[in-house]
Amino acid sequence: MSMVADHLIDGLPDVRGELIPDAPMAPLTWFRVGGPAEVLFRPADAEDLAAFLKACPTEVPITVVGVGSNLLVRDGGVAGVVIRMGKPFMRIEILDDNRVRAGTAALDMAVARSAMEAGIAGLEFFRGIPGSIGGALRMNGGAYEKETMDVLIEAEGVTRAGERVTYSLVDMGYSYRHSSAPADVYFTSALFQGSAGDKSEIERRMNEITERRETSQPIRTRTGGSTFKNPEGHKSWQLIDAAGCRGLKRGGAQVSEKHCNFLINTGEATASDIEELGEEVRTRVKETSGVTLDWEIRRIGMTRDEASS
Ligand SMILES: Cc1cc2nc3c(=O)[nH]c(=O)nc-3n(C[C@H](O)[C@H](O)[C@H](O)COP(=O)(O)OP(=O)(O)OC[C@H]3O[C@@H](n4cnc5c(N)ncnc54)[C@H](O)[C@@H]3O)c2cc1C
Repeated sequence: MSMVADHLIDGLPDVRGELIPDAPMAPLTWFRVGGPAEVLFRPADAEDLAAFLKACPTEVPITVVGVGSNLLVRDGGVAGVVIRMGKPFMRIEILDDNRVRAGTAALDMAVARSAMEAGIAGLEFFRGIPGSIGGALRMNGGAYEKETMDVLIEAEGVTRAGERVTYSLVDMGYSYRHSSAPADVYFTSALFQGSAGDKSEIERRMNEITERRETSQPIRTRTGGSTFKNPEGHKSWQLIDAAGCRGLKRGGAQVSEKHCNFLINTGEATASDIEELGEEVRTRVKETSGVTLDWEIRRIGMTRDEASS
């Protein structure tokens, strides 16, 4: 893909951040699989991102990623530009009235911790989600009966045309693990509302969340979190278990024995092993229960065949 990348990068606007051709994506995801980004863009700040998008030819595909904890990058890599926000977007500010502003590269866990240290309650569920605030905004990330939509006031971002925008909670159009905000808005920060709380009580709740996660999820493996959304009135893991898929393998991919809505890379999996295993699970669940599972994991990029054709 290098030839194409060199060509693409030549036509891209200058930036203050970094533009990296043929950048490996696997290390940027929890699954540790997938091909390279044609060009990876690490913006210096929101202005840099906006100026880049404004000047970037409209035919160049743009994809944004967070810390890759709900993401499967296909083996043929991702065409166009992949935006990954880093350090300049990690700032967490404690504001008046129990509000917290966080850059979208800040980890959910760091936001939970900062709020706890400031005696702000209500954000402790973020302790249970290993993603970034950008991913939480897009996925309406949630854990233990609370979701991003319960605490969000507004989110700032940049459109594909390079316009800075602010989306209110209503504009985000949230439902379960879904936002109807336009797919081509790249979020740069979020403002959250908490409430006054007791620091040690908040810490106790966060520790409880940590313990529950340790016992119920394969959090130390190469995984992408919950593979499928829970269908209305069902739990995906129960349907998958009932379809006999617990421990099912394909190449180096396996349905977790510990939590069967998690797929894991046992070491040498390719992205297609993981995606095909997921599709096999969907087929078996449909056959045994009649229920169609929808992917929660975001799949991006091209298969090897698509990339070489
Ligand atoms: C062990 C484990 C446990 C998990 N448990 C939970 C859980 O309890 N609850 C839960 O909700 N999730 C859970 N997840 C899934 C995941 O952590 C969340 O979906 C998280 O919000 C994804 O954030 P991310 O930064 O990793 O995003 P990525 O996986 O990198 O991306 C996910 C989506 O968000 C979009 N995105 C990322 N950043 C931005 C941005 N700045 N602007 C616009 N779009 C953006 C991407 O384009 C992509 O569509 C778990 C994952 C793992 C591995």
